[in-house]
Order: sequence, then C-alpha cells, then structure tokens
Amino acid sequence: MDHFLYRKGILHAEDIPLPDIAAQVGTPFYVYSAATLRRHFRLFEEALSPLDHLICFSVKSNSNLAVLKLLGDLGAGMDVVSGGEYARARAAGIPGERIVFSGVGKTREEMRAALEGGIRQFNVESEAEMHQLSEVASAMGKTADIAFRINPDVDAETHEKISTGKAENKFGVPISRAREAYAAAARLPGLNPLGIDLHIGSQLTSLAPFRKAFTRIASLTETLRADGHAITRLDLGGGLGIPYETGNDGPPLPIEYGQMVKEVLGHLGCEIEIEPGRLIAGNAGLMVAGVIYVKQGEDRKFLILDAAMNDLVRPALYEAHHDIVPVEEPAPGAETTPYDIVGPVCETGDTFAKSRPLAPLQAGDLVAFRSAGAYGAVMASEYNSRPLIPEVLVDGARFAVIRRRPTYEEMLSRDMIPAWL
Ligand SMILES: *Cc1c(COP(=O)(O)O)cnc(C)c1O
Repeated sequence: MDHFLYRKGILHAEDIPLPDIAAQVGTPFYVYSAATLRRHFRLFEEALSPLDHLICFSVKSNSNLAVLKLLGDLGAGMDVVSGGEYARARAAGIPGERIVFSGVGKTREEMRAALEGGIRQFNVESEAEMHQLSEVASAMGKTADIAFRINPDVDAETHEKISTGKAENKFGVPISRAREAYAAAARLPGLNPLGIDLHIGSQLTSLAPFRKAFTRIASLTETLRADGHAITRLDLGGGLGIPYETGNDGPPLPIEYGQMVKEVLGHLGCEIEIEPGRLIAGNAGLMVAGVIYVKQGEDRKFLILDAAMNDLVRPALYEAHHDIVPVEEPAPGAETTPYDIVGPVCETGDTFAKSRPLAPLQAGDLVAFRSAGAYGAVMASEYNSRPLIPEVLVDGARFAVIRRRPTYEEMLSRDMIPAWL
C-alpha cells in the first residue's frame, strides 16, 4: 500500500498534487511519501515483535539524508556497505551502535573510520577481511564485534544479478568453512565474534529460500555454540520483494516473514537484526517525468520522456518492470494506445517499457513511474551529462526538496583542465 492516489483526477503524493511539485522543481524528479516510509518500517516492527530485534535500513536502497533521518527517528538502525554510506548514516544522526557494516571489500580506511566513529558490528565476508580487521582494531586498542556473513548456498530464485547466497556468488564465507572461521576469529586480537549474518538476495517473492537458509543458520548456531562461541545475534539480511506490477499476486507480507523467522529461529534466544531496503523504500517513491515528444515510428508510437536510463537504470540493468501512469487520470473506459516509452539517451537500452498500453498522451503531459523509491535515485548517474535529478519528500500537506538539481556550472566544476593543456 502507498499514499500515491488520484484525487479529482490528479495523481497526488499524500495531500500534494504532483503538478504542484513539477511546477516548482521541474521534471524529472523523485518524490517520496513520508507516511509510506513510516508505515513500511512499522510493518517490520510489528512482524518481529516480541523478539528482541533491530531493523537496519539498507542505506544502499535509498541514501538521502532526509529519508535516513526520518527512519532513524523511528528507531531504525542502518546497514551500510561503504565508508560513504557510513558517513551518510552518521550525518543523519544515527548513533554508531545502531549501524552495521556489510560489504565484500571493506578497506582499512573504512574500518578505521567506523571504529573511530562507533559501530555496532562488522559483517565480515572473508577470512582475509577478518585478519585485516583484527590488525586495524587491535592497532587502535579496540575490539570489533563481528558476525561472519555466511553463504548458505541457497538459490534465492530471483534475478541473477541480485542473487547473492549461492556458492558461486562472491559473497560471504562458505557455510562449510564457518567453524574454522569462527575458531580463527576467537584466537585473534581485536575481534569479538558474537553473531552470524546472511543476505541471500533481493526481490525474493517466496518465503521458501529464506526458510531454507534460516534453517541452515539455526543449525550452524547450535554447532558454533557447542564449539564454545557465544552466538547472541543473527542478522538475516534484507531481500523481501515488493509487487512491481499491480494486479499480480504480491510477494509474502512482512507479518508472514516475521512468523517464519519466529518459527525457525525463535527458540535460539538471539537478538534478530534484519536489513530491509526495497520493502521500506520501493513503493514509497515515484519518479515523475514529462513527455517531450510523441513520435510516430514505422510501426509503433514512441513516448519520449525527459527522464532516461541514467535517472532510473533498473529497466536497462535488470529488465525490471515499473508501472507507468499518467498524472492526469484518464476518463473511465478511455481507449489506450501501445507506446514504447523511452528516454533521450543515445542507447537503445534507454527504453523503460515496450508496447505499454496508455491513454493517449501529448507533449507536456506528466507520467509517474511507480515503485521507484528504492534503487532509483541511488543508482543514477550523469551519463550524457544529464545532472542528477532532484528528490522531494512529502509529509501530509507539506513538501520539501531534499536534494536539489545541480546547475550545469556545478556539474562542470568538478572537472579540471591541466595548466599544460
Ligand atoms: C542490498 C542489501 C540489502 C537490502 O536488500 P533489499 O532487497 O533491498 O531488502 C541488505 N543487506 C545487504 C548486505 C545488501 O547487500
């Protein structure tokens, strides 16, 4: 459920008509609904209670400081995968003890910055990383709480580019090496192995792969405890999918996920951490674009938008589907025409949708891409020298620009022409 509805024929974000935002900031832009973000966070809170738990929002899905602050104010922790994301979480006011640090390639500098600024736990993805963290932490006179990210060798049954829990993927320590890894960590200075972490993929549409992976983690917890390790935390990662297409059967709900977590892991008495990104932010955001031209091709009509693959790359990268709707509601029963919906970038891959039936549109009309709040703005680039598009947050009847559109001057000012040219 979201808070983007037609009122009197105009698509709104909560109480704000989208054309009002377009008039102020120009198109294209991202817009997020504060009520939807809060609602999705609370769904996970309800799903996991009464277990001792912490919901660490996956910063890589939407890293705007205002979004992080809004969630942090509700008590969210953060899952970060780079020094830059750590800096964002701290700048949004999230205390270090609510931040977990994931990622396969943490550098010494990133480890040092997190240990200096405060960190809840490192999710360690290899034995090489374990040795480096031990060196960095002990040189600073600190002890880092760690969980090994275990690769449970489970097929997440999702798109191959976002599947992370199979033996062939680069992520985590193979489950077959887990006992050795924990034994080694327990002997090293500067490390306190207290948890197990996993994240098997993103946009999962069934509970079965989660259940399989969590069952393996439950038995690993018992094995490691028998080996003498006090395992007190389980970080289950993110990955619960969202409906991208209206009308289809949706993925499992947080409440069903929570029920399964309790069934499979509840008896262990561990503190549970989860790292949802997409489910919290995905359907809390739209990308709004303007129609530049309607072009009649040989055998089809192209809708040429002012947004492109550099602004929202998911369709080009993952063949992802986004519902695209007109901001002005078509009359009931209006005839539709199939459009190929494209951007102005010089690549055939800059195609958002093919043969998408829509009521007729003209230059100057606005359209909205649904489910664009996660992996939208964060994956944008300036390809074709198109400045990053603004982000707007709506909360009831007020809205604010939470990232402004840079000018060409700002975009160009980062380049430098050497004196010898
Ligand atoms: C991407 C990622 C997440 C979030 O995944 P969603 O599918 O957005 O919930 C959580 N944890 C880790 C380690 C990730 O890489």
